[in-house]
Amino acid sequence: TKLSSSNFIRNIVLEDLHSGRVQEIITRFPPEPNGYLHIGHAKSICLNFELADEFNGRTHLRFDDTNPLKEETEYVEAIKRDVNWLGFEWEALHFASDYFEEMYERAQLLIRKNLAFVCDLSADEMRETRGSLTEPGTNSPYRERSVEENLDLFARMRAGEFPDGSRVLRAKIDMGSPNITMRDPVLYRISHAHHHRTGDAWCIYPMYDYAHPLGDAIEKITHSICTLEFEDHRPLYDWVVEHCEMESVPHQYEFSRLNVTNMVMSKRYLKQLVDEGIVSGWDDPRIPTIGGLRRKGYTPESLRQFCREIGVSKNNSLVDERNLEFFIREDLKLKAPRTMAVIDPLKVVITNYPEGQIEWLEAENNAENEEMGVRSIPFSREIYIERDDFMENPPNKYFRLFPGNEVRLKHAYFIKCEEVIKDEAGNVIEIHCTYDPRTKSGSGFNERKVKGTIHFVEATQALPAQFRLIEPLLVEEEDGTEEKSFMERINPNSMQVLHGFVEPNMKDAASEDKFQFFRHGYFNVDPVDSSTKQLVFNRTVSLKSSFDP
Ligand code: ATP
Ligand code: MG
Ligand code: MG
Repeated sequence: TKLSSSNFIRNIVLEDLHSGRVQEIITRFPPEPNGYLHIGHAKSICLNFELADEFNGRTHLRFDDTNPLKEETEYVEAIKRDVNWLGFEWEALHFASDYFEEMYERAQLLIRKNLAFVCDLSADEMRETRGSLTEPGTNSPYRERSVEENLDLFARMRAGEFPDGSRVLRAKIDMGSPNITMRDPVLYRISHAHHHRTGDAWCIYPMYDYAHPLGDAIEKITHSICTLEFEDHRPLYDWVVEHCEMESVPHQYEFSRLNVTNMVMSKRYLKQLVDEGIVSGWDDPRIPTIGGLRRKGYTPESLRQFCREIGVSKNNSLVDERNLEFFIREDLKLKAPRTMAVIDPLKVVITNYPEGQIEWLEAENNAENEEMGVRSIPFSREIYIERDDFMENPPNKYFRLFPGNEVRLKHAYFIKCEEVIKDEAGNVIEIHCTYDPRTKSGSGFNERKVKGTIHFVEATQALPAQFRLIEPLLVEEEDGTEEKSFMERINPNSMQVLHGFVEPNMKDAASEDKFQFFRHGYFNVDPVDSSTKQLVFNRTVSLKSSFDP
């Protein structure tokens, strides 16, 4: 795998290798196991793994598990599965919690160097004394505690003597710093919470800004890539590495987060959708988790290609969701067999076709890829067509089936509509047609032409199937209206379920097999709900878009 284009982080890596600052590139992907990964994480995963890979380096997977209340083993397992599925193998698997003891010792070192102190201010008091962008903060009254008292209090914090929120360990940096992150930031907090790995061994936990640089330094990470909101934290990152006297000195680089139009892209919000039952789970095909995109029918190749092509920059960008769709169409175009499915069926009886006879017609599996070969499809007196491929009173330029009109059935014959059968309420329930045996597909018939081609599935052999047409979960914000919260933008019609038929050769379709259904788009066999009794297909993407990047 190669990065298709250069980017500023890759340029930094090139310079660092050239100047000899580093001998080898070591990156890491550091998810917090508090939810499932989404397409934004995929961007970070691709960047980290592909960058190291390009320069024969290594990438670690490190779980940033410093917040026990929100973290679970279920999430750890799901994240590992998703990273592998995307096509990446980590060189080493680590947990920030593996380093709790070392982090504790380094904190004692900071105390001994008079660079950290135990502070008894409440969270509110700390906020009030932190100052603002225009006002400096004020020193904590506990800032001048002696080294001995701080060492003692910190040990007793660890021993569990104090309740949650009563004390913290803070770095002693500068309450007047223009960078608020540097105003004596909290390094440790008390939390009597059960940790998914360390159990009840600890009741103090390091903060991200302290744990992250130490984890990077311990693992000898060379390029620690994170998103732009951590730019202000970089001086603290460097401060921790320096004053904790870490041997290996990692550097942090920031790039802009990926955002996609109409997609909920934060684990916190995704969790809310799952918890409130608005979606069926973390792998619901309507949400942009890796699992959801996978279930919808996205391939690892398409997601990786998307991540490469959208590039890496410092400008916050909102990528159009149609961009993502472009890459899955590109990937499946030559790979997915093209078959016929009728998703909203209307029965057609071909009155001049012999009763009880079935013939098998040859159909190519992919018109753009001959190597995919051909299959046999049945044809007989009774078939299904799409309900909207027939109109009793068509407008101008409607070239599909209507009384007296002739169309081509894909891979089969011309048929002509002779009679419309209705129920008592006046609904069309069946169409009677005649066919012309001379017009068989491939016969070279050219005595007359028809303007419309429609698809069909032969009725006696057809397999019933469910089709899920997926629309965006969020409806687009109207211009000029007040900004709405995402919960107010939930699209009530985000999943339309239709019942129809597919060709009999689909009986062997396996979980996650992908097809292009003629005229309908690409579909994925649902890995959870599809069975040999009831095939279920999720629409990955329709065939065309007005927008191709
Ligand atoms: P969320 O708010 O969705 O929980 P997070 O940044 O808190 O996101 P982490 O588990 O901490 O999630 O993220 C792991 C890595 O993935 C981090 O390096 C983070 O910067 C990166 N990442 C997360 N979201 C995005 C995104 N939208 N675009 C690019 N990188 C992202
Ligand atoms: Mg995070
Ligand atoms: Mg988060």
